[in-house]
Amino acid sequence: MNSADLMRRRERALGPAYRLFYGTPLHVARGSGVWLYDVDGRRYLDCYNNVAVVGHAHPAVVEAMARQAGRLNTHTRYLHEGIVDYAERLAGLLPDGLDVCMFTCTGTEANDLALRMARAVTGHAGAVTLTDAYHGHSAAVYPLSTEDCPDRERPPWVAVAPAPDEYRAGARDRRDAFAAERGAAVGEAAAGLAAGGHGAALFLCDTAFSSNGVLTPPPAYLQTAFREIRRAGGLAVADEVQAGLWRLGDGAWGFEASDVAPDIVTLGKPLGAGYPLAALVTRRDIAEEFAREHHYFNTFGGSPVAAAVGSAVLDVIEREGVPQNVQRTGRHLADGLNRLRQRHPLIGDVRGRGLFFGIELVRDRSTRQPAPRAAERVRDRLRENGVLLGTTGSHGNVLKIRPPLVFERRHADRLLETLDEGLAWAESRT
Ligand code: PMP
Repeated sequence: MNSADLMRRRERALGPAYRLFYGTPLHVARGSGVWLYDVDGRRYLDCYNNVAVVGHAHPAVVEAMARQAGRLNTHTRYLHEGIVDYAERLAGLLPDGLDVCMFTCTGTEANDLALRMARAVTGHAGAVTLTDAYHGHSAAVYPLSTEDCPDRERPPWVAVAPAPDEYRAGARDRRDAFAAERGAAVGEAAAGLAAGGHGAALFLCDTAFSSNGVLTPPPAYLQTAFREIRRAGGLAVADEVQAGLWRLGDGAWGFEASDVAPDIVTLGKPLGAGYPLAALVTRRDIAEEFAREHHYFNTFGGSPVAAAVGSAVLDVIEREGVPQNVQRTGRHLADGLNRLRQRHPLIGDVRGRGLFFGIELVRDRSTRQPAPRAAERVRDRLRENGVLLGTTGSHGNVLKIRPPLVFERRHADRLLETLDEGLAWAESRT
């Protein structure tokens, strides 16, 4: 079937709410490692897909999934070793005290459960989220996804604090003070909720600040924000759906770099490397308080197959030295991106660490005027040249680089060369 016919069928079958990447969408047929292949057999270097954390179709993950599916797949109302082993391993990767794991199928569900839990434990109803955040699509969580949810649909129990975007705020020369100010803004948002009669049950924060354009505030940000939300009687919740499992290089979790311990951590995307596996991890006292009045069951969450896949992903990460690769390749890529910044006036800012970068494109470095058209052009040009990346940020002018964590130096070099050409091409057209 050709792509145009498939698009028409898809539109009829799925309706108009869905979106495809690219003006001419990529019609994919298979994936392997860091490569995606289209229906014509052309291969693309995947610099975007974080779900395929150990590479597309990793044989050890596929084998574990198939083996368990061929043996047993029930749910958590039966006793089975798989999910207990996996929960213990996951808790072992988190700071002491965060040792109760509850399983869901999606990041949305994990955040939804975090909201229910925080409400039950604090007795408050409200939530503090950031500008341009994304935390999921359920009726309860969608209003916290300020990137998508229209302002007029925001219920009064949601308060929005400004994201710690030091570049846009022109605060690069006073990073720590700015981070503390933006952290304090979480307290101000919580006070607004209290004044409205809701109180703050939680502050939910994507520790990679992915939809904000990949921000890297100094530790003062989370330290201040977590202190403020606790002072307001709420819980500090780290959404590690993007940052989790060594994406940021310096540890398994995004919050580690800030030397803070959240009350609840939510996990998703990379855990199952494509199999729907997500989780919430919290302290025993919080889990016990929640369980006084609430039971929890999720038909597919934490099934034997989910557990087998999750364990296989952790095995591959250990066996293949993925954390070391993220640091090594990440440093090489960061150096290369910073060199591109020196050569290309279109680049206003390069941010990120590990294997997660945002490259903010501007029309003018001194005014920082966003260049979303150029970002789109560069992204499309790279696709033509066999490299896939995305765009993000409130202005859509940030190129997002977030490859599988088995991305190697030679792949980074290929990305850098193609990006160099793409930027020059876009610059010649502005
Ligand atoms: N939190 C963050 C930070 C995310 O990026 C996403 C997904 N983009 C979610 C939560 C929701 O996860 P899911 O799509 O699995 O529901």
